[in-house]
Amino acid sequence: MMEDKAAVRKEGKREWCGMTDEPNILIFEKNRSGKRTTGYVPSPSSEAKRLIPDSLARKKDAIFPEVSEREIVQHFLRLSQKNFSVDTHFYPLGSCTMKYNPKINEEIANHPSFTGLHPYQPEESVQGILRIFWELEEWLKGVTGMDRFSLQPAAGAHGELVGMMIARAYHDSRRDFARRQVIVPDSSHGTNPASAAFYGFEVITIPSDPRGRVNLAELAKAVSEKTACLMMTNPNTLGLFEDDILKIQKMMHEKGALLYYDGANMNALLGIARPGDMGFDMIHLNLHKTFSTPHGGGGPGAGPVGVKKALEKFLPVPLVTRKGDRYGLDDDLPDSIGRVKAFYGNAGILLRAYVYMRRLGKEGLEQVSRDAVLSANYLKKNLQSALEIPHGGFCMHEFVASSEPLKRFGVTAGNIGKRLLDYGIHAPTVYFPLIVKEALMVEPTETESKETLDRFCEVIRKIVRESEADPECLKNAPHCFPVSHPDEVKAAREPLLTYRAFLGRQDRRDRSDLVSGISF
Ligand SMILES: *Cc1c(COP(=O)(O)O)cnc(C)c1O
Repeated sequence: MMEDKAAVRKEGKREWCGMTDEPNILIFEKNRSGKRTTGYVPSPSSEAKRLIPDSLARKKDAIFPEVSEREIVQHFLRLSQKNFSVDTHFYPLGSCTMKYNPKINEEIANHPSFTGLHPYQPEESVQGILRIFWELEEWLKGVTGMDRFSLQPAAGAHGELVGMMIARAYHDSRRDFARRQVIVPDSSHGTNPASAAFYGFEVITIPSDPRGRVNLAELAKAVSEKTACLMMTNPNTLGLFEDDILKIQKMMHEKGALLYYDGANMNALLGIARPGDMGFDMIHLNLHKTFSTPHGGGGPGAGPVGVKKALEKFLPVPLVTRKGDRYGLDDDLPDSIGRVKAFYGNAGILLRAYVYMRRLGKEGLEQVSRDAVLSANYLKKNLQSALEIPHGGFCMHEFVASSEPLKRFGVTAGNIGKRLLDYGIHAPTVYFPLIVKEALMVEPTETESKETLDRFCEVIRKIVRESEADPECLKNAPHCFPVSHPDEVKAAREPLLTYRAFLGRQDRRDRSDLVSGISF
């Protein structure tokens, strides 16, 4: 089996991949009548049966596959290993900061002294966690140069929405009701225009200049007394530092508009540069990206929003307060935009970020950014000969390559992303930002070894060679997984998450008799 897999890696032939023939993807396919586990099989006591009302009780017994305990363990353990994860694979997914998350964060966040807290406990009995919130806010203020933070928002996009609410509240408080436009660069993350539009702003998109930065002439044309806010990220989504930021902030402030900083990806700036010093009025941070909480797959996040002094009074309630050595929660802020999340935000994520920052300290955080930028530049330089890299020069924590030249072999960025899986590497972000054709957005992060980065370059070069020599191999990739090419539109519109999804496949249909009589 191992040999076969190695051969696939070399040659990229599906039929050589022993793993794809692995039988019995579903445990029901392992069903053989008469097989039993020797372990404990729960059956409801008569007492339990009595407690369930007839109307809710099963009419027929539940159907379980008949399998041995050994098969169950093997089956579920194997399934769990089919995942790609930060802990198992290189995961250079741009704009997502898939860095290694230190396990001590988990241990502390899962400690009963925290997990046992209840949000309705009186303040005197939760002084510890309130102090952590307070200190976390101090750290975030230090890193960003903002004056006050709300820890409530549950994600980056949620933070953006809060930012838009604050922008509206600020202009309305000045009776400046005409400001209903939000400007975004065309390289912006999709959530930026979406958040602005969702809150009723008109979105004005301005094109980037040939250097991939905000086009100042276009910005000057777009800004007016109708502008509520400019939403930007710096470094931008091309991984480039907006070196005209001081001019940009001046242009906006002179026109009475605010500047919102999308700080989802702070991995390049920690301890080096601060959005507050660049002139931004508001920011959200993605604690689940930069500050190391496992994310992806829709798990909980945290997108604290920080503001400059003039906007403090609009922040969501409650804010964490300190009087002497007592900590509390302040609900009584008449100009606040109100509550945006139940209780105090996603406390477990806040706790992880706090542990991460405390453990690294100021110097450690700065080293994170220096290493993240170094890794990205190392890859960018080494991949220049293999892929097209439209925006040259130094990058920050990520960069965007293009596989446009491989189009002549019919190979797309999506194909490359899928082929990388065969080599045990998660795909970079593909087709984003939209302004680069066949975009591959690569963010290595600071936690990868030089050996991993070197291997990534080697694999990319190999794939580029494959594009010419055997484009079919790329178009049909990945070859080493049970499912390789779901119809992406159909999978999103008509998700079939039950056994039936597999019955459509010929090799499964042949075995469907095994489960005949079982309805799902
Ligand atoms: C991830 C990301 C967001 C959105 O953050 P969520 O927590 O997924 O809502 C916004 N902007 C940028 C630049 C991002 O990378």
